[in-house]
Amino acid sequence: MIVTRFAPSPNGPLHLGHAYAAIIAHDLARQAGGALKLRIEDIDGPRSRAEFVEDILADIAWLGLGHDGEPVFQSTRLAAYEAAVARLKAIGVLYPCTCTRARIAGMATRSGPDGPIYPGTCKGRDIDPVGAAWRLDVAKAMAITGPLSWHDALAGEQTCAPQIFGDIVLVRKDLPASYHLAATLDDATDAITLVTRGRDLFAASHIHRLLQALLELPVPRWHHHALLIEASGEKLAKRRGSPSLADRRRAGEDGRALADALRGNRFPAGISLSDV
Ligand code: GLU
Repeated sequence: MIVTRFAPSPNGPLHLGHAYAAIIAHDLARQAGGALKLRIEDIDGPRSRAEFVEDILADIAWLGLGHDGEPVFQSTRLAAYEAAVARLKAIGVLYPCTCTRARIAGMATRSGPDGPIYPGTCKGRDIDPVGAAWRLDVAKAMAITGPLSWHDALAGEQTCAPQIFGDIVLVRKDLPASYHLAATLDDATDAITLVTRGRDLFAASHIHRLLQALLELPVPRWHHHALLIEASGEKLAKRRGSPSLADRRRAGEDGRALADALRGNRFPAGISLSDV
């Protein structure tokens, strides 16, 4: 059975790009007689807000997208993230790091999908882990797992290449997990078989595949879809003036008609699908 998920972060209002992502997750599940799960990625404490959660649930219903089961909140799963971190520490693939963002920007000589690549400064150093972040020693992790691959429905078979990120943070200073760790664990817990999300997160799947191998989790398939973009070529975002779904809903727009228009690739003026 196909099980997909829509996993928004409640740190701002949803916009048309989120609606498009939710429709793809919903329709790929429904067309296959499968299930759609809704996961609220709310571990980013200060940025996550209850009113955005309320709007997300109302927006999804307004678009006519039913989901299966109750929504899952990442904030209720911190103990599971901590247990996985303990396991990764026991395998010896995490190391504490106290470098600041500014320091890394000053030291880095290469850039990866998320910005400057961490040059491994704290690796092998005797660092007080209290209040430190924990990074994944990607080379050591890959030496343990050996070569890996993963499958994207649109881009085909991929050779797993997490090294393009460098040693990423898996445990933030202020959080018991990072997006990568929490999302990977949740996809396994929720028995997701097809991870659908925008192509902006394509590279993240290299990390997730590595974590699945290290933690002996089931391996889903992926479907990274094109993104909705503004005429300028930028991703849609509320701060650039695209109306939010909640704005449209409150203005009395028909959500199901909007969902059908997006399904038919009929977008409001100035908005189109990225071709990369
Ligand atoms: N929470 C992420 C976002 O809103 C999506 C994560 C995912 O689909 O894996 O961008």
